[in-house]
Amino acid sequence: MRVTLWGTRGSLPSPGADMAGYGGNTSCVAVRGREGTVIVLDAGTGIRGMAATIDASVRRVDVLLTHLHMDHIQGLGFFAPLYRSDVEVNIWGPASIQLSLRARLMRYLSPPLFPVSLRELPCTVKLHEVPRGVVDIGEFRVESELVCHPGPTVGYRITDGSGKVLTYLPDHEPALGARPFPSLPREWTSGGMLAEGSDLLIHDSQYTAHEYTDHVGWGHSSLRHVLDFGTLTDTRHLVPFHHDPDHSDFELDRLMAEAIDDAKPDYQVTPGREGMTFDL
Ligand SMILES: [Zn+2]
Ligand SMILES: [Zn+2]
Repeated sequence: MRVTLWGTRGSLPSPGADMAGYGGNTSCVAVRGREGTVIVLDAGTGIRGMAATIDASVRRVDVLLTHLHMDHIQGLGFFAPLYRSDVEVNIWGPASIQLSLRARLMRYLSPPLFPVSLRELPCTVKLHEVPRGVVDIGEFRVESELVCHPGPTVGYRITDGSGKVLTYLPDHEPALGARPFPSLPREWTSGGMLAEGSDLLIHDSQYTAHEYTDHVGWGHSSLRHVLDFGTLTDTRHLVPFHHDPDHSDFELDRLMAEAIDDAKPDYQVTPGREGMTFDL
């Protein structure tokens, strides 16, 4: 599979010359298979640029939403395949106790927040509520599981035909239920089994260790937590992302280098930058 980062920023789009290295668009990752399957992870503002790479011959696209916080759906209305009558867009995401996925999405995709209503779109929209165990999407096997973050939130584990595994956990605070972290086996740690043995793990790294102490329970991880989570789950390659909008390129370069030097992980770490591509 080929994995491309289209949005690496957390919480809020962060344009600006001092942010351009890591990127200012919010969460969006494209996964493409050898047989042409197109999966889009989250619909942050990065999805607009991703959509421009979808070929006219594509008839099905699957958008997997981890949750419905604004930074993960803000680009959805600007996803070009929604306006093509020859495309089936499958949107996967969590319902809440009170509302279906459709009702939750329509809160954004309807006036006054957005001029076009979900039911007016010319494409064929199919909605699927998660988590729902193991699902096959084209050539990929997709697993979803609820993880520790405010409101219903899932992570995704995607396996291709050759057994390569990508795990996507953009908003995740595994340390909340296991303090000090890590203090529990992976089976008892949020996201632990989902990420087990990943060839590529794309994971929340919003805060520094110092910033985390003022944000316990906000649903995000410190850089140190992510590096320890990678060790706990036997990850082969970690991509920290969902960068805080207050962290400039200069600061991120320093914070990443310090955290990696401190934790000394025995696996590969590549700080996530918009435009990066990984071939598994
Ligand atoms: Zn987020
Ligand atoms: Zn969130």
